Amino acid sequence: MSLNGKTALVTGSTSGIGLGIARKLAEAGANLLLNGFGDAAAAIAEIAACGVQVAHHPADMSRPQEIAELVAFAEQRFGPIDILVNNAGIQYVAPVEEFPVERWDAIIAINLSSAFHTTRLVLPGMRQRGWGRIINIASAHGLVGSAGKSAYVAAKHGLVGLTKSVALETASTAITCNAICPGWVLTPLVQQQIDARIAAGSTPAAARQELLAEKQPSQAFVTPEQLGELALFLCGEAAAQVRGVAWNMDGGWVAQ
Ligand code: NAD
Repeated sequence: MSLNGKTALVTGSTSGIGLGIARKLAEAGANLLLNGFGDAAAAIAEIAACGVQVAHHPADMSRPQEIAELVAFAEQRFGPIDILVNNAGIQYVAPVEEFPVERWDAIIAINLSSAFHTTRLVLPGMRQRGWGRIINIASAHGLVGSAGKSAYVAAKHGLVGLTKSVALETASTAITCNAICPGWVLTPLVQQQIDARIAAGSTPAAARQELLAEKQPSQAFVTPEQLGELALFLCGEAAAQVRGVAWNMDGGWVAQ
């Protein structure tokens, strides 16, 4: 598939799943606007090696004003955004009655509201040009719950709902909106949860195994490369009538 000449914005793409998806889109020829708080120089170098144009914008995705600046910067640098991947996300684990209010607000803002803001800002241009792809990185936690993750589960279920509404509002156009729902992927976000188990006395190998055993029947992590291939498929013509799905790639997590 060729995405030559197309512009893609992937939020939270300095590491993990976002960087994996950005790489697949760049390998297919799309110019990339990266975002996130990680090592921007390393991410830029990785994407530039694919031979496309790439830039990074440090917008904090919890702040609507900075999100508007991010979209304006992308359009000024590369032209209108054709592919929007809403990927930035954070996690926090605590029982609901002990959940810090500011952590709840941050998770809802970054994992859910940021996708509303990017979508409302990018969609008019997609409509004007008559083509677009919006891909929301939700989670298995967009389909089922887990104890201790009230804010994350609420935000990811919300993101699946937003995906369906936007898909219906664009259903008669060549713009599609879909969600991808990964199971465990070994990224910095999940490493924090492994580290918490190590701090509680597990060895690193046992901590990883325990995490998988609890939820993921395949007992193997999903990879950013596999998720990138799914995102690439959703960008293609074969996926033109895939609309409003929440597509789990989760080692069997939600089949249980
Ligand atoms: P990660 O920590 O490697 O990446 C998160 C990215 O978001 C980083 O680039 C980080 O800098 C950025 N980010 C965080 N807060 C931000 C903010 N306020 N503004 C801008 N950028 C910000 O984690 P990941 O696992 O690659 O997560 C990516 C997405 O995938 C998240 O939405 C996460 O919920 C989702 N997800 C992850 C898993 C998993 O197992 N790792 C499973 C399901 C869904």
